[in-house]
Amino acid sequence: MSQGTLFIVSAPSGAGKTSLVRELIEGLDGIQVSVSHTTRPMRPGEVDGVNYHFVDMATFEAMIEQGDFFEHARVFDNCYGTSRSAVETLLAAGQDVILEIDWQGARQVREQMPEAVSVFILPPSREELERRLSSRGTDDHQVVSARMREAVSEMSHYSEYDFLVINDDFTTALDELRALVVSQRLATPRLGQRHAPLLEALLSD
Ligand code: GDP
Ligand code: ADP
Ligand code: 5GP
Repeated sequence: MSQGTLFIVSAPSGAGKTSLVRELIEGLDGIQVSVSHTTRPMRPGEVDGVNYHFVDMATFEAMIEQGDFFEHARVFDNCYGTSRSAVETLLAAGQDVILEIDWQGARQVREQMPEAVSVFILPPSREELERRLSSRGTDDHQVVSARMREAVSEMSHYSEYDFLVINDDFTTALDELRALVVSQRLATPRLGQRHAPLLEALLSD
């Protein structure tokens, strides 16, 4: 079986990456989102093990010590990390995997897996980003202000990514993201392996 593709999705907080990724995996087979570990407090409506594995700082540090993380980074005073074993198991089983991670984590992943495909999601304007962050209603005013300040620095890394998607109209952005995933599935190296018998039959004398 061929390995799945690893997708990195980054965006400033509030640009819509979680909503887009959720819809994307609902409508496509063979793709899963990696559930990160974080030390940030749980938001109303979030579920441990679904949105994140919520852990305390001591547990997070122990995981770093044990080499459990594929990548990890500090974002907005909280720590976030991707479990190495969870991602490797899914990829080996042929599943495509999405990492919703920040630019620091994206750099660490590219170093270890240059074949990973990275996408940066941008909001249509700063005003709209602030409106989405506030209207999501999950963070208090101070947190929203801090996230807006961080947004510009996160967005300044857009050129390190393979693809850009502007999340203005949600359906259009979702279609673009889906097209990206599907196009990777049609790449010659992956299809060459999957269709080996067909290719042999077509090319034999
Ligand atoms: P939201 O993006 O506004 O929903 O806020 P989150 O608290 O879910 O995520 C905050 C930041 O942490 C974002 O920039 C994410 O991309 C990043 N992040 C989430 N999980 C991970 C992870 O496992 N590793 C890294 N490096 N960053 C992560
Ligand atoms: P992120 O995971 O990047 O922080 P979310 O997916 O939580 O972002 O989206 C932030 C808010 O913006 C949510 O309330 C979401 O419903 C809303 N949103 C996402 N995409 C759009 C869009 N294209 N148009 C309007 N609102 C959107
Ligand atoms: P939030 O706290 O709003 O859920 O996420 C804040 C930021 O942390 C987002 O931009 C998200 O992409 C990033 N993030 C979430 N999980 C991880 C992770 O496992 N690794 C890294 N590097 N960043 C993460």
